Amino acid sequence: MNPGGDATPVVIFTNQKGGVGKTTLTRELGIALAARGYSVLLIDSDPQGNLSKSLLEPERTESSMPGLYEVFEGGRLSIESVRRDLSLLSGDARLAALEKRYLGEVDAYEKLSSIIDSLSPFEYDLILIDSPPSLSVMTLNGLAAASHFVIPLRPALYSLQGTNDLLGSVAKVKKSLNPGLELLGVVVNDYLPGPIISRQIKEEIAEGFGEKVFTTVISRTVKVEEAIAARRGLVDERTKVAFEIEALAREFVERLGLPSLGNKPETGGGPS
Ligand code: ADP
Ligand code: MG
Repeated sequence: MNPGGDATPVVIFTNQKGGVGKTTLTRELGIALAARGYSVLLIDSDPQGNLSKSLLEPERTESSMPGLYEVFEGGRLSIESVRRDLSLLSGDARLAALEKRYLGEVDAYEKLSSIIDSLSPFEYDLILIDSPPSLSVMTLNGLAAASHFVIPLRPALYSLQGTNDLLGSVAKVKKSLNPGLELLGVVVNDYLPGPIISRQIKEEIAEGFGEKVFTTVISRTVKVEEAIAARRGLVDERTKVAFEIEALAREFVERLGLPSLGNKPETGGGPS
């Protein structure tokens, strides 16, 4: 709960490159922050629906369940409870149809914003949006609705290519739809400390984005996929990457200026 009903931060994870960690970071920070007692709403705006599939039981995602698509089409808002303090407005393949339908429509980019405005300001402390790997109608809706954006990057060759396009779109969105949109930071994800090349690219990212780069780097580890397969969070186990996610969550909360909370007593954890 957000007792003061303060303006709820809305953070979109975005990068038109696929496979950089948008979904992973939305998921893991959502789980970590919910475990710390923040009431978190996740929004899956990617037609791939990976975030939804990674959090909900297969029975709940197999038949197209009501989610973001329905609200875009003027239907009822249907939010799933994932675990204590973690909710999800799900996404699925039907979102791809909206791309065609809304392309070029005047008010096509403000739909997500109105959906978020229709939520009670007291309900959530934080809203996290996972976006598709493109500068699509859905991504633009997310950028128009967000207070902040986070760019996940993999320190691999060409990883910085394309961030200029993203920043160009952000500049356009700021000019027309959402002047307050701010870069919360850049997260280096999927980092292998061994190879010189990955350290060099990490340096390039630091040079390009300066203090905007989060201090915490998320390592490459098979635990990420194991957590998805088990529909658990990385922070549910005491591993190195769990501590990294915890540290990133702390930085995240600090940058957003949210009150810091201690760990909530464990209440069983797994998805309900
Ligand atoms: P995006 O949403 O940007 O396309 P994902 O978060 O889905 O990227 O990540 C792409 C793939 O890489 C997924 O299979 C995910 O499990 C894996 N992955 C992401 N981050 C890591 C990491 N730190 N270590 C290992 N695998 C990772
Ligand atoms: Mg994704």
